[in-house]
Amino acid sequence: MCEWLKKIFLRPEEETVEEKEIKILQEQLSNEKELNNNLKKQIEEVSQFGSGDINLIYIRLNGKNQTIMIDENENLSESFIVKEFISGDNHSKIILHEKIVFILQLLRDYYNRPIIITSGYRTKNYNDSLRGSSKNSKHLEGKAVDFLVKNINPKDVQDFIRKNWQLLGIYGLESSADNHVHIDIRESDRLIEF
Ligand SMILES: [Zn+2]
Repeated sequence: MCEWLKKIFLRPEEETVEEKEIKILQEQLSNEKELNNNLKKQIEEVSQFGSGDINLIYIRLNGKNQTIMIDENENLSESFIVKEFISGDNHSKIILHEKIVFILQLLRDYYNRPIIITSGYRTKNYNDSLRGSSKNSKHLEGKAVDFLVKNINPKDVQDFIRKNWQLLGIYGLESSADNHVHIDIRESDRLIEF
């Protein structure tokens, strides 16, 4: 409908389909923005706490981004417990996306061997202390994990991921590492290797 016809036939309060769609899109975008802002705030808050606090706070990232008080020995899935994902500086809070646990459990079941997690969540302080770590590491957001599958060469695991990344939901793979496997769930439509 052209502009002048619209003016004649539509009352001012009426919206065209197009306008409605734009509004819905804008709403979705602002929701996403809010979620991202919340996440940033949570990451900052978590970084302010020192180690040695009695309770472990687990910020479970999913559609809702829940904050839960949790025991470090509690199971996150059949084979993985909270403790395994604690930051290397023994920080008392962790941020972890549930997809990471889900992917690890898939790999655990596929190989039918123990998986040793070498780095899960990282606080900013801890990440900065690691040589060669990225300032924007996905470990800071709880969206990355480094691990080993017992008695399997990390290069073989990387090959498996390269073939099945879509199925597994993995979007980042550190292909230069030969002593561990790094995977992450960055936002991407393809597998990013670095
Ligand atoms: Zn890593």
